[in-house]
Amino acid sequence: MNPENAWRHLRGLTPLSLCDWPGRPCCVVFLGGCNLRCPTCHNATLAWDMEGQPQLPLARLKTFLSSRARWLSGITVSGGEPTGVPGIGMILHEISAFGLPIKLDTNAMRPDVVEALLAEGLVELFSVDVKGPFDQYPALTGGAVSEHDARQNLSRIFALAETRPGAFAFRTTLVPQLSDTDLTTVRGMLPAGFVLATQDYKPPRRPHALTDSEARRTAGNLVQ
Ligand code: SF4
Repeated sequence: MNPENAWRHLRGLTPLSLCDWPGRPCCVVFLGGCNLRCPTCHNATLAWDMEGQPQLPLARLKTFLSSRARWLSGITVSGGEPTGVPGIGMILHEISAFGLPIKLDTNAMRPDVVEALLAEGLVELFSVDVKGPFDQYPALTGGAVSEHDARQNLSRIFALAETRPGAFAFRTTLVPQLSDTDLTTVRGMLPAGFVLATQDYKPPRRPHALTDSEARRTAGNLVQ
């Protein structure tokens, strides 16, 4: 793995978030690119047009972490979809050198990567996005994930969570397509003992509809 190929996904940094990791003031590192095409994606430019977003120099991230790590309680790695980044293990290994625990946001469709990162001890908490009931995955992911694959991939994640309950949290975004009945179904999918968190839906801003200034803001408080 060429480290440059991995770090070229580094597209943004939120210096301080009080809500991405409940109870832990953290920074948020954004990696571009995603394997899904959710019509409700709020970070569509980062997910689907990574090359159209300014790259954040690695040196700048390291300088930030060197000077601010003592004020933070963790690092959230988000996207896009971090598990789709070639060399994500190397990235997390380098970040972990700053002594802060790492939370990783994931759509759960790369359980092999999640399993490897868990085994390597590189991630303290996987925040798993459960889009909805299995049979709604094709619609909720823009046709990127079949019901069969959703069931298979999430089942592997749920099995990992049963072995390491403290390392997983599950959440669903309340997109308009989901009913209360759907949420009940999702809660029933989770392994015993897990509580489903929900987060409010923010309507997406489409890249083709953005002005230049809007496009810059779409990165969502990102520091380049
Ligand atoms: S998985 Fe997340 S980042 Fe990827 S398209 Fe869906 S909402 Fe966007």
